[in-house]
Formats: sequence, structure tokens, C-alpha cells
Amino acid sequence: MAFPNLFSPISINTLEVKNRIVMTAMHLGYTPDGEVTDRLVGFYTARARGGAGLIIIGGCTIDALAGMSNMVAIYEDRFLPGLKRLAREVKAHGAGVALQLYQAGRYTHSSMIGGEKPISASAVRSRLTGETPRALEPEEISGVQMKYAEAAGRAQRAGFDAVEILGSAGYLISQFLSPLTNVREDRYGGSLENRMRFGLEVVERVREVVGSDYPIIMRLAGNDFMEGGNTNIEAGIFASELEKAGVDLFNVTGGWHETRIPQLTMSVPRGAYIYLARGIKAAVTVPVLGSNRINDPAMAEELLENGEVDMVTMARALLADPDMPNKAESGKSDCIYHCIACNQGCFDSIFRLQPVTCLVNPQAGMEGEIPVRPADPVKRVMVIGGGPAGMKAACTAAERGHQVTLVEREDQLGGQLLLNRNIPGREEMVTAGDDLVNNLNAHGVEIMLSREADVPWVKEVAPEAVILATGARPLLPDIEGVDKQKAAMAWDILSGKAVAGKRVVIIGGNAVGLETALYLANQGTVSPEILHFLVANRAESWETLEALISQGNRDVTVVEMAKKAGQDIGMSTRWTVMAELRRLGVKILTGAKALAVTEKGLDITRAGNNEPLPADTVVIAAGSVPENSLARQLGGVVSEVYTIGDAKEPRNALEAIKEGFLAGLRI
Ligand code: SF4
Repeated sequence: MAFPNLFSPISINTLEVKNRIVMTAMHLGYTPDGEVTDRLVGFYTARARGGAGLIIIGGCTIDALAGMSNMVAIYEDRFLPGLKRLAREVKAHGAGVALQLYQAGRYTHSSMIGGEKPISASAVRSRLTGETPRALEPEEISGVQMKYAEAAGRAQRAGFDAVEILGSAGYLISQFLSPLTNVREDRYGGSLENRMRFGLEVVERVREVVGSDYPIIMRLAGNDFMEGGNTNIEAGIFASELEKAGVDLFNVTGGWHETRIPQLTMSVPRGAYIYLARGIKAAVTVPVLGSNRINDPAMAEELLENGEVDMVTMARALLADPDMPNKAESGKSDCIYHCIACNQGCFDSIFRLQPVTCLVNPQAGMEGEIPVRPADPVKRVMVIGGGPAGMKAACTAAERGHQVTLVEREDQLGGQLLLNRNIPGREEMVTAGDDLVNNLNAHGVEIMLSREADVPWVKEVAPEAVILATGARPLLPDIEGVDKQKAAMAWDILSGKAVAGKRVVIIGGNAVGLETALYLANQGTVSPEILHFLVANRAESWETLEALISQGNRDVTVVEMAKKAGQDIGMSTRWTVMAELRRLGVKILTGAKALAVTEKGLDITRAGNNEPLPADTVVIAAGSVPENSLARQLGGVVSEVYTIGDAKEPRNALEAIKEGFLAGLRI
């Protein structure tokens, strides 16, 4: 497929960008003290080499108290040498490079800024930090605005092609713009005209410093998605005024970090918020950039072709596959590793204050440290097990030049990834497997399906190295009656090998247990097509429509021993899963221990009381155990044997794929 729109140049003020692909700013955690590091340079030069049109670095703190200390800093001249090197090296690979000016206001936690109180438009408590900021005094405001301008001047001197002002997601400019966080009574509060003033003056100050021909980008919330906050209408009015103040490109995203509407999880449909960019496009004459969940060049091409946006942001998409633009342009779209919006390697790492990595790209952030080198000597490698760990190991070994055979006992590749196929909001996990299959084929891996690898057969084939990725099997807990007919394993329910009755109790409130609950509770709700039909024809009331998408045909209860369910789900995603389960009416009993599966259901004990839970089916989701018996048997048969992934120790797909990658590099 050709992508004529995606790979056409565009001008932003005086800057010519070679294509429409923009890597927007993302916090990476690669700069422990704010200084540019080799790791940061290696990460961004890989994306520039891979064909991105414009890369926006950041957020970059414009003040020592503007955000976390491990963000890229630009608040003093001492950061200039590193920033100059970064801008030079990214541009050397043909990409444009911009720098995002970051001032978080009340989204900064006092512990990140030496105990100081964060600043804001007004002293309104932040749900994100749990803290109340202090309102800027009128005489302080121009000083804060000048910090943006001084930082913009520094970016220009460092060689960056443009600056982006962060005016979205609930950061300081948004805090002035919103009536929820701005209750000032001076010329910066009250009417929309007054609330826009802070942001508009920031742009004016920046423009005064950088001159008329230097590109200024504004990152804007297309809708705050905060009850009582700004919508696409106010955002359009603000954008129109910002254009007059000197903005050359609008980067339109979704809502605030405090919103309860998911913005970046897998449950957000691809391109869900493009309509917000379309609203801004109607209000301005300069180019508009659309954001959130655009992970595929074909989709980006369609958005451009239809004139919805002028450019597309692909930040996580380029974290997942730095070579995505080049692959698309050279006709190798099949080999793209798509971002699946799992957030396990990126946002969840940030929340744990860890450097960012990627589930589908274990090399992300380690480009210089773990290169993929040609194999020497080339070996005959057998990988046993076609789940994520095995597929990644086979791919990596083959990419290096080894002769690789991948053996899978089932009739398709994918392993546990395939279990996500029917779980609402988790379907894209399957894409990670599909992408690996495409790359296995591209690298010439011999794939043997429905083949049990036993010792005599391995002996006969005589590989020089074996990677054992045989996965795990579900754990059958030591509970009376688990062998009864009414008990079923969660994996069997998810794969369709077993069918649950009307009343279901699930033992285990970990990710698998909750996702099984999501799957079962969603059964019998109306499909998106039917919902669309009913809405389009105004056939039912809003209350009835809500009931139709929330009330399925099963009664589902989850029993969890711990005080909290879903503890193995990342922070960025857990709250969305819990909200969905609530909406679907799933009951979650925490601090509850399963005692026995009976004829009538499941007996449990909770808070010292025994109680029977009636059920037609009791689903077991009590964890898993490694399936690696072959490792011992192959000990004397093959000289090199590596056990990886769940076969070593059951964990998540991020760990499995990383171990597969490292095993593929070791041989
Ligand atoms: Fe996308 Fe997941 Fe990688 Fe983050 S970790 S970039 S969400 S695939």
C-alpha cells in the first residue's frame, strides 16, 4: 500500500517537515538529573533514522520547580551543551526536532520540588496529586510567563527547529483556562476571555523572544473531559485566539489527567479523539495535528486523505517500532510492530518511577546498549513453544542470521495472547502476536504447528541450540471439589473450550480472573452495531441504552483473597478495568477465601463467616505454574538449552517478550 499523503512534506511557518508523522513529547525517565544522556540521544536518533518527520522532545522543565527532576531540563543555560548535541544528532538523520516547554502547575507533587507548594491559577486541590497548590499572585504571573519565553530562546539557541507550548492535559495553561481550577477575580479569571489571557500572553512572550519566523506549536486539550470544564467549543475559541497570538501548529489531544474517561488505554478505540482535532481545525487556518491511539500508517493515511487532520502524532507507535515510517514507505508495513496501548512498558513504568520500555519492543531505550548483531557462528536453533516469548526468541535469532525452527503443539501461534481475543478492551493483545507471526515469516523462520516436541524427535532433528518457551499451565488450587464438573479453568472459558452457566463465581481476582469476569459479564449486552442503530434512530431512552450495554445475561462474582483485586494490572489500566466491571455489575468479594466447590456453588469464608455462593459454574483463575519438564530431559541431548518466559516463571507478556529477545541475542 502506498501512503502518498503520509509521506508528503508540510510547512510549519518556515520549517519544512518531510512527512506527516510526528513523535510527540513523552516522559521517558532517561535523564536522571535533567541533563541529556547518551541513552536519550540513542533513543531519539533511532526514531529519526527510522523515518519520523518531526520529533518533539519533552516535556522539558522551564523552571526547576515545574515538574519532576528526571525530566529533560531547559531552565538554565547549563543544559545547553546536551540539548545542542541532541538537536544536532536528531537533525543529522533527517527529522525535524522541536522541544516542549513544560510547566505542570498543580500537577507537580511537592515531594518532587523540595517540599515547595506547586503553583496554579487558584488554590484548588488536585485529584492527581492529592495536594492543594497555591494561587499565583498577580505580580508573579509575568515572571512565570517569561520562564516559557526564556526557555524557548534557549531551545532556539540549542538548534531546535521549533518549540511546543504545553497547554493540554490539565497543566498550568489548562489550569488558567478552566473554570474548575481558575476562580480568580482579577483579569486572569472569570470570563473565558480572562481565563485565556495567561496562555495567550505566554505565546506572545515566546513570540517576542523567538521572532516571527520561528515555529510555535501549541499542545491543546480538544475537550478537558472534566465535568463543568472546557469542551471542544471553548478549545476552538482559545485556538482561534492563539493563532492570532502566533501559534503555527495545533497538536490536539484529549482530556486532563484527572478525567475519568480513558484516554490512552487499550479500551480507547483507535483514533477515538480525532473528532476533537476536527473541531479545532474548523476554528483555525494553520495545520492541525491529531493525537491518541493512531498506531498504523494505513489509518494515518486515511485521516490525512479525508482532510480530518494535517499531521498525525505517533508517539507510542514509534516507541513500539522506531522503523515504522521507513517500513511503511518501503512497502514493508507487514513487519511493523504496532503499539497495542497496553501501557505496561511505558506509562506503568513512569508511575513506578522507572525508565520507559515497551512490551513489543524490548530494545526501546537500550538502543546503544543491546544492539542486534549478526550471528557468528550461524547455528541451527529450535524454539519450542509459540507464545510471545518463543516467537520473540525465534524472530530475534533469525534476524541475526541463525537457521530457526519454531515448534508449537497447538494449531496456531500466539499462546496466552490469544486468550485476549474475546475480552472487551483487551483484543489488541492479539495484535502483538500477529505482528510477531508476520516478522517470523519475514525472517524465514520455519514454523511447525500441531507438533509435540518430545526428546526422541528433538534428538533426531539435532539442533545445536534449543530455546524452551513452553509456557505455563493453570494452577489447580487445593480446594475441595475443584475437580467437580461445575468447575472450569479460566483459560478454557476464554478460549471457548468450556462454557459457563448463568451464575458464575470466579476464584481469583488477579488479571486473568477479572478479565474472565469482563468477558462473561459482557455476554448478552448489545453489540456496537446495534447500539449505533438504536442511537441513530433515537429508538430508546438514554437510560435504556445504558442498560442495554451494561446488563448481560450472566451473574458474575469474583472471589479474591487479598484486600484488593487486580493488583497485577498496571496503574494506568487497573482503574479502567475496575470501572468496567462496576458498570457491568460484577460483584467483587475481597478478603474472601474459597473453601469448597459444592453441588450448589462455592463455599467461602470472609471476615470470619462462612457463606455459600450459589453458582452454576465455578471458574478457577488461581495463577499458573511453569511447564518446563522438557528442560531436564534435554540436558544431555542438546548442548545449549535456554528456558525462558512463563516456562521459567509465570509473569506477564512484557517479561516474556523481553526474555525471548535476550535469548535470541545470546545464541
Ligand atoms: Fe504501546 Fe504497550 Fe509499548 Fe507502551 S508498552 S508503547 S502501550 S506497546
